[in-house]
Amino acid sequence: AVTEERYVANNPRSERRFRQAATVMPGGNTRTSLYYSPFPVTFVAGEGQFLTDLDGHRYVDLLGEYSAGLYGHSDPAVLTAVRKVLDEGLSYGGPNQYEVELAQEITHRFPSVELVRFTNSGTEANLFAIGAARAVTGRSKVLAFESGYHGGVLSFRGEAPLNAPYPYVVCEYNDVPGTLAAIREHRDDLAAVILEPMLGGGGAVPATAEFVRAIREATTRYDVVFILDEVMTSRLAPGGLQERLDVVPDLTTFGKYIGAGFGFGAFGGSRRLMERFDPSVPGSLSHPGTFNNNTVTMAAGLVGLRDVFTPEAARELNARGDRLRDRLNSLFIEYDVAVRATGVGSIMGLHFQRSPIVSGRHIAPAPDKRTLLHLELMLRGFYIARRGYLALPLPVTDTDVASFVDAVADVVATHRRLL
Ligand code: PLP
Repeated sequence: AVTEERYVANNPRSERRFRQAATVMPGGNTRTSLYYSPFPVTFVAGEGQFLTDLDGHRYVDLLGEYSAGLYGHSDPAVLTAVRKVLDEGLSYGGPNQYEVELAQEITHRFPSVELVRFTNSGTEANLFAIGAARAVTGRSKVLAFESGYHGGVLSFRGEAPLNAPYPYVVCEYNDVPGTLAAIREHRDDLAAVILEPMLGGGGAVPATAEFVRAIREATTRYDVVFILDEVMTSRLAPGGLQERLDVVPDLTTFGKYIGAGFGFGAFGGSRRLMERFDPSVPGSLSHPGTFNNNTVTMAAGLVGLRDVFTPEAARELNARGDRLRDRLNSLFIEYDVAVRATGVGSIMGLHFQRSPIVSGRHIAPAPDKRTLLHLELMLRGFYIARRGYLALPLPVTDTDVASFVDAVADVVATHRRLL
């Protein structure tokens, strides 16, 4: 309560702005995940790894737009590419040169993706991937996992679902025998299994290699399409988590950072499946979308992937994330508090327990502790998600990381009894 009072007193302009916003948008926002009580601050500027809010506070941005903000807020190469497009004219209503090059970059980087199609969001990419699987197999059901998140209408996190009207089979994450039994049981109706190789929004919980391998084998055996949702995880290794896990999915979906700050999604995979979208072939699957190839996203995404987030940059960033997670966990052990950092590379989740987490069922909700840590970190100039999620952007420096660790240590030392 004291923390919340300090937060309110510290952010009068944001509070006023929030109250105005609530008169025209339910809950004062247009992205459910951005709401937190008492109110979220309103940002007015971003530069590199920093954000500035309406009350003039500066934050090190460790939320990194839920992983989409990989390049930070003003990457020079991305901005130059966008400025060039602005001079060339927007939205041609026809093919452009950037989409080909971005498609080449993606298929080169992720070898399981022989052919690719672009969309406007990760949600759409998953909807088209699932649609393709259902059309190609002639089956209806989709197997997904508890705590999984594949988009606004494809959420399995337990909140009131607004899910697309597919018949779903939902299994526990990382449960090998349960998942294999469900695939076997539903094999005659099962079109697809959709999996995040690390639960992202569900708490940064990595899939075990054994789990992913078991799904690959069973889906191959029963001709079920295996969709790997790498919307969030494709940044966790040069070739995505599929490279690290040594798995070849039938379809992969992408989104977030690949658009370099603009609305983006993509789905792609084996030639056999994806060539069904070739409109020159009679009976092909339809995939329209006005802004699928919009020049700003295509150009920004291309320069980002080709010139900025090189394989070396990916390795370096994720090694920095691994070091941060190790330092946080050592600190929690040293202070003897029930807090642990999970995740892979540059994406992590902070959870309020000592016990290991292998699925959403193991995560202690701990809403009050999450609030405390979140607001105390904001008061110290660090922005993370209320739920304890972080995704390091490229411009974050070792100095930023070191001061973040100091801030966490300070919160833990000050509020030890409450954590
Ligand atoms: N899939 C995963 C794993 C995600 O994390 C997200 C977004 O958080 C999506 C899909 C949906 O992407 P978008 O928000 O672009 O629709």
